[in-house]
Amino acid sequence: MKVIKIEKDQIDDKLLSEAARLIQEGGLVAFPTETVYGLGANALDRQAAKKIYSAKGRPSDNPLIVHISRPKELEPLVKEISQAGKKLIEAYWPGPLTLIFPKSHLVPDETTGGLDTVAVRMPADPIANRLIELAGVPIAAPSANTSGRPSPTLAEHVMQDMDGRIDMLLDGGPVGIGVESTIVDVSGPTPVLLRPGAVTMEMLKAVAGAVETDQAVAGPVSGDIKPKAPGMKYRHYAPKAQLILVEEDPKAKESAADVINRLTREKLKQGYKVGIICTEETFSAYPEGMVKSLGLRSREETIAHNLFAVLREFDDLQADYIYSECFPQTHLGQAIMNRLSKAAGYHVIHTGKEEE
Ligand code: AMP
Ligand code: MG
Repeated sequence: MKVIKIEKDQIDDKLLSEAARLIQEGGLVAFPTETVYGLGANALDRQAAKKIYSAKGRPSDNPLIVHISRPKELEPLVKEISQAGKKLIEAYWPGPLTLIFPKSHLVPDETTGGLDTVAVRMPADPIANRLIELAGVPIAAPSANTSGRPSPTLAEHVMQDMDGRIDMLLDGGPVGIGVESTIVDVSGPTPVLLRPGAVTMEMLKAVAGAVETDQAVAGPVSGDIKPKAPGMKYRHYAPKAQLILVEEDPKAKESAADVINRLTREKLKQGYKVGIICTEETFSAYPEGMVKSLGLRSREETIAHNLFAVLREFDDLQADYIYSECFPQTHLGQAIMNRLSKAAGYHVIHTGKEEE
């Protein structure tokens, strides 16, 4: 795998052209976006799309997001663009918002996992945007991690997972947002939120009016229900350790920190390695275990930015158990809690009524 360093504020087109050529030739190139690192291939090339699935070890019914560099590149990929779709594009493209449309014949089944809809996003990241423009084709790009691992927010994460499996990595340094794009299905009468992200529910409603939430956003999908975003049925973002979330009930006698400290002590006594995910405000409340702060609780952007990197650090430290504090479910907090809950396999302890 060839690694090329690119400066975001001084993009060298010569370097990017080499990456663009690889894409045109059916190769795989990992590149930074404002959300997480993506693993890109020509979205209109069946064979190239297939290579993405094998490099990631991704189930072939889990469709890919198609990335474009200009709004006008959307039209050939879709059958129609609803009013809500138009409004959301106008308000939030380029940016961390993926929209689902009925697909045109141009988009192969390999890219959409056999669905008759296609997911499209226009990234704001200057490297991603210029790469797509130079390639001259839409780029299918899921997160550049091995399927099931936390999404990569640093070039080093991509190296860990993809070295030897892809042709090139564009190293643009740390990504901005750190959680994957918001996904909204605008192929039906009312927009449906399929995955929360940095374009928050509050922001969607301000522009599109009514927005529904798919039930898979809140919790696990039972076996007999087919989730709208097929990706939601897989255990995502999973660290190697068992992650357990501790939700604080303000009326309970013990605080979240009390419960985490007690459980940590128990596990340490049994000889396990224990990690704790907390915030700057609470860092000093944890005397034992491997304690990592996601940043200031009041700065949701920082929490989102650091989340996946911290989960990977605990993998490197070979933690057996990780206990994490929880966050309010509003604004960016909805995306943070969605990723944490999935990583924990929805294992949550509520202070005051705990049974493990
Ligand atoms: P990733 O790019 O790895 O963050 O994953 C892309 C997500 O988009 C997965 O959860 C997919 O299931 C979802 N997705 C992609 N295309 C579609 C589609 N046509 N309909 C619904 N969900 C989709
Ligand atoms: Mg992913």
